[in-house]
Amino acid sequence: MASAPIATSLEREREEQRHWRLLPDFRQMTQFEALLTNEFRDPEEIGRQQDQELARVLRFAAARVPFYQGRFAEAGLIPDDTTGSRDLQRLPLLTKAEVQENGKTLRATALPKGEKAFGWFGSSGTTGRATRVLHSNTSNWMFTFLEQRQLRWFRWNPKGLRADIRVSTQFPPTAEGQRRPLGSSFKQDRWRYVGRLFETGGYAGICVTAPLERQIAWLRETSPDYLMAYPSTLERLAFDLGPAAAEIGVRGVYAISEQMTAAMRHRTEGNFGIAVDENYGLNEIGRVAQRCRAGRYHVNAEHCFVEIVDDEGRPCRPGKIGRLVVTALRNLAMPLIRYETGDLAMAVEGPCPCGRTLPAFGTIHGRYRRMAYTPDGTSLQVHCLKVALESMPRDLNANLRQYQIRQQRDGSYVIQVTVAEPLPPGFEAWLRQRWEAEIAEPRPDLALQRVDTIPLSPSGKTEDFVSECAPPAEALPQR
Ligand SMILES: [Zn+2]
Repeated sequence: MASAPIATSLEREREEQRHWRLLPDFRQMTQFEALLTNEFRDPEEIGRQQDQELARVLRFAAARVPFYQGRFAEAGLIPDDTTGSRDLQRLPLLTKAEVQENGKTLRATALPKGEKAFGWFGSSGTTGRATRVLHSNTSNWMFTFLEQRQLRWFRWNPKGLRADIRVSTQFPPTAEGQRRPLGSSFKQDRWRYVGRLFETGGYAGICVTAPLERQIAWLRETSPDYLMAYPSTLERLAFDLGPAAAEIGVRGVYAISEQMTAAMRHRTEGNFGIAVDENYGLNEIGRVAQRCRAGRYHVNAEHCFVEIVDDEGRPCRPGKIGRLVVTALRNLAMPLIRYETGDLAMAVEGPCPCGRTLPAFGTIHGRYRRMAYTPDGTSLQVHCLKVALESMPRDLNANLRQYQIRQQRDGSYVIQVTVAEPLPPGFEAWLRQRWEAEIAEPRPDLALQRVDTIPLSPSGKTEDFVSECAPPAEALPQR
């Protein structure tokens, strides 16, 4: 597989950055060199810098954000004396429901000079309500700066043609300001976001609701250098195209928004013949982290502070899976402090084989937010089924196209599968054996069901787990 080497260095990143030519009006910008240098600084120095930024946000919140005033007092936190991360642990986690209910009091009553409110960005969730956050100008600019950082890490050459397959609400509007029609495709002169600052090649897009055959024809005819899509879309393309996927000539693939399972990665990378890159971001915060080729998610420490914590909000030991909690450092318009993302990730420690020194976390384990409203034990049961499905010997799951674990209202499970050829009897036997070995009595019933298609969620994604115990997610405009 033609993939970039795992290890990198300051020199190697500088070399890569040379492909990126700023447009004449922006040649004086120093932000990109600063971001690059930060990636290899002494970790202790990065930690000190983050503490200073955290202290600044805490002091600002205490003075200008009514929501936090009571909260800090209750926690006995004196913002003028704060030293940053250690004091943060005294504060309770900020839930999505709190952000939804306190939109007014979470807004700053005044902003520092030069800072302006930019606009609201939201995300959907199982609660059926949007979590909307007001971003500042600075926070919004960070989105573009960090987009460039991640594309450099992914080794995308800005002279190439970039193509995205997404839901129509996430594409730029038409020239008339209209939302792109479902299933449509388009082409523009410059890459999105980074094309405002840098010389770039063209940008093409097609809506994920276009039939698969049309997406394939479009890919063949567009012949992009780089492709961004949902993991489930990539997997479908990889499956349908088979080894011919490599003939499209895509040099970089970037999977967004959903979790990419090991099986999806295996199939996509195998048929496209290149490594798939991923990031972790939230509309409420912006870009949080990028996955390096060693498999760690490195945090954009200039933009946010990440904690992996247990149920009591205390830091997890390395190797343990905990809640992914983020504090925004660049958004004073509506500061989120210890925001509980609803996702789970593994805590890691020690130097990363990639050579970057930015703080990091390991694999993201499931999208915890979908676990809201489900019966106790659901998280473990779903985890057990996913591991069983994905750790199977290849001769058992080679014909599996897609799966969806469905929890029914009574707590029982149906695993829906789409298959290329009938599955061997060992497939179900393997699942049942794992299920009985790992899940204690009373065990929910488990059934396997072959279906022709697995329906997309309202936002156009395939989800590996859905529960009838949870209200449906709504489709919302996202960045
Ligand atoms: Zn790394």
